[in-house]
Amino acid sequence: MGQIIAIVSGKGGTGKTSFTAAVSTALAQMKYRTLCLDCDIGLRNLDIALGLTDRTMMDFSDVIAGRCSLEEAVVRHPKLPQLYLLTAPVYVKAQQIPEEGMRQLLEEIRQSFDFCLIDAPAGLGQGFHLATDRADRAVVVSTSDNTSLRDAQRAVLELGHLPRGQVHLAINRIQKKVLRQLHQTIDDAMDTAGLPLLGVIPEDPNVPLAANRNLPLLLTAEDHAAKAYRNIAARLTGQRVPLMKIR
Ligand code: ADP
Ligand code: MG
Repeated sequence: MGQIIAIVSGKGGTGKTSFTAAVSTALAQMKYRTLCLDCDIGLRNLDIALGLTDRTMMDFSDVIAGRCSLEEAVVRHPKLPQLYLLTAPVYVKAQQIPEEGMRQLLEEIRQSFDFCLIDAPAGLGQGFHLATDRADRAVVVSTSDNTSLRDAQRAVLELGHLPRGQVHLAINRIQKKVLRQLHQTIDDAMDTAGLPLLGVIPEDPNVPLAANRNLPLLLTAEDHAAKAYRNIAARLTGQRVPLMKIR
């Protein structure tokens, strides 16, 4: 049975899509059959971060409506045979996706993949619930600034249905020069939100650069953010990996 992990945040632009793409790539490279499910209805862009633009024809609403099968709708990555994408509809609203249909889709995904990472939309509306209601775990991605951390805490309050210990925090875009004062902020955030820290990801120009070149980050870089995402993937599979030093 596969594991479904929702990648969420309160605030937009914290790095959910980059996280979903990079951690999924790492899992696929570890030979886990991995599906990236774009749940950012209307604003989908996971295909760009994965280097799969123009390859998707059908989206998850087509599978739910029975217009095609799951197998027909997923796109396999040409360079990573274990990595697949199921994209989001552009002209459908989250409110129009039937909950029961989503439940059945995720059940089917569980049967045929080892991991499914769901890229959630920003905010805590219907799209957030679509992405998180049936997940096994959630990762809240936040930057280190206070507004983002506060929004992360709000997101956590919406995840009460998940078992304790299955909601994690990942702090993105950490810069070395703010690291010292950050330790305190991160500790406070973990205490207030009661969340275990899954990882810290440094600020790294390779993240936007890879997306601009339409290439998965992990196929173009080894260090910095790429390494942090690999560590996080390893932790999700149960390995113990120490937190990375930000240089
Ligand atoms: P979200 O999906 O939460 O809206 P994205 O993953 O699209 O966020 O990231 C928003 C922007 O921040 C993108 O331009 C992305 O390239 C950039 N970004 C994300 N993570 C990092 C990082 N660790 N270092 C530098 N830029 C990053
Ligand atoms: Mg996004």
